Amino acid sequence: MYYITLDLEWNQAYQQKALAVQKRLALRLRGEVIQIGAVKLDENMVPCGSFSMIVRPKFYKRILRHVSRLTGITQEQIDNGITLPEAAEKFRRFCGEDYAFLTWGPDDIPMLADNLRAHKLDTDWLAPTYDLQPMFNNVTDGESRQRSLEFAMEHYEIPQNLPAHDALNDAYFTALVAARLEVPRQIRENVRRKNADEVVREIGNADIGEDGYPTLESLLLIPAFTEPACVRCGRALTTEDEVLHAKGQRYSRLYTCAEHGSFLYTLHPVKNFDETWRARLRVIRASEADITKYRERLKLAVARRPYRRHRRKPKQGQAKPTGNANNG
Ligand SMILES: [Zn+2]
Repeated sequence: MYYITLDLEWNQAYQQKALAVQKRLALRLRGEVIQIGAVKLDENMVPCGSFSMIVRPKFYKRILRHVSRLTGITQEQIDNGITLPEAAEKFRRFCGEDYAFLTWGPDDIPMLADNLRAHKLDTDWLAPTYDLQPMFNNVTDGESRQRSLEFAMEHYEIPQNLPAHDALNDAYFTALVAARLEVPRQIRENVRRKNADEVVREIGNADIGEDGYPTLESLLLIPAFTEPACVRCGRALTTEDEVLHAKGQRYSRLYTCAEHGSFLYTLHPVKNFDETWRARLRVIRASEADITKYRERLKLAVARRPYRRHRRKPKQGQAKPTGNANNG
């Protein structure tokens, strides 16, 4: 088993250009990869190989000035780079058979996946992948803030003796930090901690070519959320509870299977690039504590409701209040 720390540099386009390209592709493409950097680590977290390629973009061909300034990559370099399909094939060969990706922060793997889709290439090989940022917080102060790689390097007194924002250098620094984080142990424990019944599904993801839902209301009515089947036995679940609309646009509902107990369904709606809606649906086996917490929040939400119902109609000539006016 090998670990591969991955870092990408990507180019962007001005909004109008980016929107036109995404519309044409019917896919999300917030940036186009111009450099892939990676370091391979063995089971003992010792570096044993490295990979660096400059990639020639196909859609956002003009390098933006701030991208060039940040990465040191020039227009001439990317013009002479190899295509993404070639780079991806070489990178896959470098990765080999038995590996897991390690990244600093959650952005690089989705970016690479979007780029592969834009070229109609396979993305299944981009797994498993683990974000080192929360692992760093776990072994240090337990905070949930997103710390920069520089912060972690300073913490371990790793000298920054190579320029940052070069994909290979950053992948190398990430590897040095990874070596301090007891990654294999943290992965094992995370997997165990996660409920065995947890299921996460994406529905209506136009960013990867599925049809999005035209409105939030239509998304909330999908059968996977309103009349779900038990993830264990497939029988229809029942519920006595209302939908809880929680902070951060999350909708939850508690369901029960006569044989397998309680499950908490949480729908998290997100806008697609084309303004339609998709959702992440998360199903967990609900513990007693989960059930108590859910019902308490539901009670609070119901108690607040009369104020909304009795909101005064605006008088003529008065400005219509915005939807959030009474929520403070
Ligand atoms: Zn069941």
